[in-house]
Amino acid sequence: MKVSEAVVPDLLNESRDLDLPSFLAWSLRKFGPDGENATLAFASSLGLEDQLLLSLLDEALASHPQPSASVHAFTLDTGRLNPETYDLIQVDRQTFRLPLVSYWPEAAAVEALIARGGPNLFYESLENRKACCGVRKVAPLNRALAGRSAWITGLRRAQSVTRTDLHRVEWDAAHGLVKLNPLLDWTLDEVRSALVARKVPVNALHAQGYPSLGCAPCTRAVQPGEDERAGRWWWESADKKECGLHADPTAPAPKKTFTFGGL
Ligand code: SF4
Repeated sequence: MKVSEAVVPDLLNESRDLDLPSFLAWSLRKFGPDGENATLAFASSLGLEDQLLLSLLDEALASHPQPSASVHAFTLDTGRLNPETYDLIQVDRQTFRLPLVSYWPEAAAVEALIARGGPNLFYESLENRKACCGVRKVAPLNRALAGRSAWITGLRRAQSVTRTDLHRVEWDAAHGLVKLNPLLDWTLDEVRSALVARKVPVNALHAQGYPSLGCAPCTRAVQPGEDERAGRWWWESADKKECGLHADPTAPAPKKTFTFGGL
């Protein structure tokens, strides 16, 4: 399917009343493969939302001889993930037919980054943190999305103040493709219930107080009542807590500024 920003209103209308399995089935039909290449991508952070989506996509493609030809499922291995996250990648390989492809950062770019600021440069400034996310996440994401028409994410509106203005189907101006957020209006409890009902494996870190997963040095457990993403880059204010994967270059600067305790 040829995509441009102009197709988004029609896509929104077509999919407005679809429940989650129907929305995913519609996405697979709408963004069908180009020959042997999947034009639809699914980005997994190995978090709760993405485990649910992976299990549903895997089920939707159960009778497909080659599921990866319909959807390019991938994760970004930054090289700084928790051991529990690598364990889950291993479990997913044994559980699902739909393979999760791991994208790594370019070795030379990581070497240059560390030569400039050291392995933990991200604690020193927002600029350094964004540089690290740029090398370890944004550049690999750009490679993973190159040539695709649409991508599915596990974003939810309730996750943070940076995600309140999203739409279930929207134009991703940064990558020039359609972005599908099927869980946008789900609560964390609804996601957890669906995972239990479907017996989907999840990251062991969730039981230790991590609702949102990221790199080990930049993520910690949250306290009851805190924002779901308060444990991500906890030393920064809440309106900065994105790594560039979901950046909207046309968005105005955030109005709200909250500060959490930290370094
Ligand atoms: Fe680097 Fe932290 Fe971003 Fe991971 S989350 S890429 S370690 S700054």
